[in-house]
Amino acid sequence: MPNITKNIDFNMEVDVLTSATVANVVNSILEFLLYQRNQIPFVYKTLKHYTQLWEDQSQDDEVTTVRQFNINRQRDLVKTTKDSISEMRQLIHTSFQNNIIKRLRFLFGTTTLTPREAYTIHIPTESIAIKHYYEHHQMSPAALNKALVNLVTTQELYDIFTHDLNTTNVYLELEMVDDINAINSSRMFRKTISQLPQSCKDIHFHLLHVSSANFENNSLKCCKELKIFEDSEILEVTEDCANTSNDTSLEQKQDQLEWYESEVIVRGLKDKTVHGMNMWRK
Ligand SMILES: [Zn+2]
Repeated sequence: MPNITKNIDFNMEVDVLTSATVANVVNSILEFLLYQRNQIPFVYKTLKHYTQLWEDQSQDDEVTTVRQFNINRQRDLVKTTKDSISEMRQLIHTSFQNNIIKRLRFLFGTTTLTPREAYTIHIPTESIAIKHYYEHHQMSPAALNKALVNLVTTQELYDIFTHDLNTTNVYLELEMVDDINAINSSRMFRKTISQLPQSCKDIHFHLLHVSSANFENNSLKCCKELKIFEDSEILEVTEDCANTSNDTSLEQKQDQLEWYESEVIVRGLKDKTVHGMNMWRK
């Protein structure tokens, strides 16, 4: 049986695309997948909220019953999963800060060699502007939500999402330019990319930059190198702003692209009740 391969476009509607915006989008897709593919019982934000709540409570709580002990044990598992998601998110952020990333993928399965589902995200490196500040060009939460809701209603994903996935491990692999300094400090190791098993569902998200209408005004106000362009014709300035990308650097470094695997693994979380007691409530 051949792999089931799906290609899905993911629009990033923002005036200027920065690497931090792409990292945010990737992290949102990670959260989306973890929840949609049954690896966490609530969305990540809610999970974070609960663990914070328990931390505050546990200050003045004494463990006096077996039941409370069991509940605490379950809550520790929740915290571990929450912490690993947070670590993976951080790793994605720093990777986009320090490296040129071409593709990355999330593997859902017992090992990286035996994934059940693989989600590869293709990064439009040529659209990423490097002379702009992220703070000035954030993708609005509404635009991000719209793109995520589009995913839910995509027929290709619907076919996959209607089949439940048991709790399993989620791995992160990144294809990026080999920058030893940046990679040494992170928790990643180089690997030879492995072929997906035939039974693995192979889903590809293609991130696309969609500029909004007011692009020109915004980009000119904050351009780091505005002074350099001051004497230029206005048309040239606009063009320069639109093309302040790192495509040439990736082109030069094409042969340095390597796959890396993250040491950070998210272990899916089963929502258990402990002796009929709901661990989510006190
Ligand atoms: Zn700017």
